[in-house]
This record gives sequence, C-alpha cells and structure tokens, in this order.
Amino acid sequence: MGRLQKILIPFLGLVLAFWFYSARDAFKPEMLRGKRVIVTGASTGIGEQIAYHLARMGAHVLITARTEAKLQNVVRRCQELGAASAHFISGTMEDTAFAQHVVREAQALLGGLDMLILNHVGASYFGFFDGDVEHVRKLLEINFLSYVAMTTSALPMLKESEGSIVVVSSMAGKVGFPFTVPYSATKFALDGFFSSLRQEFAIQSINVSITLCILGFIDTERAVRAAAEVLQERPAPRDECALEILKGAALRRRELYYRYSSTRLPLLLRDCAADLLDYLVRSRYR
Ligand code: NAP
Repeated sequence: MGRLQKILIPFLGLVLAFWFYSARDAFKPEMLRGKRVIVTGASTGIGEQIAYHLARMGAHVLITARTEAKLQNVVRRCQELGAASAHFISGTMEDTAFAQHVVREAQALLGGLDMLILNHVGASYFGFFDGDVEHVRKLLEINFLSYVAMTTSALPMLKESEGSIVVVSSMAGKVGFPFTVPYSATKFALDGFFSSLRQEFAIQSINVSITLCILGFIDTERAVRAAAEVLQERPAPRDECALEILKGAALRRRELYYRYSSTRLPLLLRDCAADLLDYLVRSRYR
C-alpha cells in the first residue's frame, strides 16, 4: 500500500500538472490576427458570432450561407469590428459544386486559407422519425457531403499553411437523441469521417488540425424555436459558444465540448453505462 501511494500520488500530481499547464488556457486573440478564415452558415446563429469574434481579432473572413441580405449585414458589421477583410458568397450547400466554388473564391480573394470552419446546418424537423428517406439524403448532402467537399478542395491550401479544420457538431452526433434522427445521423457521419481523416493525417505527417466541436443546447433562434418548449435545460449563449470554438481551433484541440458540464461529463458514461446515458438524454425532455 505504501509503495502504491509512493507511485500513485506523484503520478496523479504529474497528470494534474500536465492538465493545468498544457495549452488549455494559453489562447490569445492575436493567434487569429491576419488569419484567412472561411466560416459557413454565418448569416445567423453561432456562425454569425464566430465571424464577429474573428473580425474583432483582426482576421480575414469569408462567410457563406444562402441569404444574401443577411450576409451583407454580417460583412458590414465585421468591417466595423476591425476585420482585416470581410467578404461573402451566397449559395446553397445542397450543391457540392457551390461548396467547391467557395473554396476557389477563398484562393482568389485571400490568396490562401488558414482555417476552414464548417458550421452550416440544413433545416430538419423535430419529432418522431417520419420515414422520409429523401429528407435524410438531402440532409446528408447539406450537413455532411458539403463538409467533405469543402475539406477536399481546401486541403492543398490548408497543407501549405499548416492550418485547421473546425467541424461544428453536436451531442446528437455522439449519443442517440430522440426527435432528431436525420440530423443526428448526419452529425455521427461527421465524427466518423473527420476522426478517421485525423488518423490519416497523423500517418502521413500532415500538419492540419481537425477540431470536432460537440455542442449542447445553444440559444440560437432556430434551436430555441425548435426545442425550448420541450427541453428542460436553459440554452447556453451563442457568443460565448462561438468564442470557445475559436479557442479550441486556435489551440488545435482534437475535440471541444461546450458546455463541458452538459456534454463531456455525461459522455463519460457512454462506455460504462450506456443505458443510463440514454435515460439521462430522454429525461431532458418534458
Ligand atoms: P442556425 O442559426 O440555424 O444557422 C444555420 C446557418 O446555416 C445559417 O447561416 C443558414 O443560413 C445556413 N444554412 C442553412 N441551410 C443552408 C444551406 N442549404 N446551404 C448553405 N447554408 C445553409 O444554426 P445554429 O444553431 O447557429 O447552428 C450552427 C451549428 O451548430 C450547426 O452545425 C448545428 O448543428 C450546431 N449545433 C447547434 C446547437 C444549438 O442548440 N443551436 C446545438 C448543437 C449543435 P441561410 O438560411 O441563410 O442559408
């Protein structure tokens, strides 16, 4: 017992020291100054807030979504906030060619790319799975295939800059959630693709980081409209969420959990008490 304590206590001390002094809190806004960043789904919600934070930090931002009028306003605000430059391209991510076009425009407008933030999400329903296979296919195109297409097109530029890919996902992409079956499927697909790609980057010594963001309930208009009535918990603020995403990206973390208490902690149960976790997820609904 005495020997065990002699080994265990210093070992735990070392683990804690590593945890405290690793890059966890070393984020500085200057890390993103002058960086060339694409943010998708930035006409509203979390993407819009990411664009504003980047602008305050002095980055070059290229934003995209479908609604041109909203994008124009976001670009104007980014310029007021101090962006090194701000541009938009409007179009739909249902079309893979559009996803590739955005990346080509980044090359033309910014001369390269340091960070690709994949955040857009197609509309889906909140309710029991209705058996509509075409809807699942369409959602996979918007929420998954366009992410793959943009990553593929952007990779040469990201390799050159040793840049970062940020994938905005959800608790619903880590554990089964009721009432969002098609959405959840697309988010699980992102985890499979990007976690496997990260492995291949490691094997090939490709220095492009991939940060998968696991978000809980955030106070964007769409999410509040869809779920505030039925979810027991209060949504977290989108501007803080956006900042945490950027911190995780700048620090090249493999995964980011926001809020930690409602995402990472419950997920610790996944391997040892999956039924309990499923029960906890269901009990969040009224
Ligand atoms: P949001 O407010 O609904 O914004 C979605 C963005 O995607 C908008 O800019 C929208 O703009 C764009 N978009 C929608 N359909 C598109 C299409 N077909 N082609 C191109 N752009 C399209 O969403 P959010 O709540 O900020 O969510 C952002 C990300 O966080 C998503 O990946 C979501 O899954 C994730 N997330 C959110 C929550 C939450 O509670 N809010 C929780 C977990 C994860 P247009 O309509 O102008 O195209």
